[in-house]
Amino acid sequence: MGGPFARGPREHSDEPLPGFKLAYPMLAADGRACGFSGVTLGRAHVYRAVDDALCAHGSRHACPSRWCDCGFYCFHDIAAARDLACEPDHRNAVLLEIAASGRYRRYERGLRYARQRVTAVRIGRCECGRAAEQLADSGAGTVGWRKLLPVCARCGAGRPALDPARFGELAQVSRVLLDGPPVEAPTATPPAEDPGTVALLSAEIAVLHARLDEALTRLDALESRQNGR
Ligand SMILES: [Zn+2]
Ligand SMILES: [Zn+2]
Repeated sequence: MGGPFARGPREHSDEPLPGFKLAYPMLAADGRACGFSGVTLGRAHVYRAVDDALCAHGSRHACPSRWCDCGFYCFHDIAAARDLACEPDHRNAVLLEIAASGRYRRYERGLRYARQRVTAVRIGRCECGRAAEQLADSGAGTVGWRKLLPVCARCGAGRPALDPARFGELAQVSRVLLDGPPVEAPTATPPAEDPGTVALLSAEIAVLHARLDEALTRLDALESRQNGR
């Protein structure tokens, strides 16, 4: 690695290169293994924590081929993966830290490569915006695999779900982290019936009633005066 000739069109690394990417967490139909599926190319294919790239278009060439867009992809920078996670299509994805090895090609913001080891899984936020704590059955999937969905404790209540440690065990990834939302979450939700607010509203309504009564009395007086003429 390195040196003036290292940036050829195709390179090879025996030393793993770190990278970051998004993926959907998947659970095998028999519940005994977990894996990942791509968020763009190769959505139908599920890969394991350590895996070799297959051509997404069914060709038998070695990945990554110059003539094809197949292979694993990653970003050099974790911020680029986090940015991509903001897109509505990718909100349900988890962030993977990976080590790329074997044949690879560089592109603008990362690598396209042949072999991958997932070194960490970062679970971000629930669809509701709170920090996700579990991976629940999403109802979607591909043949033999159910797609999992990061959910918070509230949205996940009563749904079949895996906690991070169990997902790590089944996926054979030792680091599964809860990333949480990078924005400040409300610390406490106000109680549905705040007695202070209710008392204040009652007082305001009482004042309004009193004014209405007064107005009606004046109107009555006016009317009776007019009728009396
Ligand atoms: Zn290909
Ligand atoms: Zn939620």
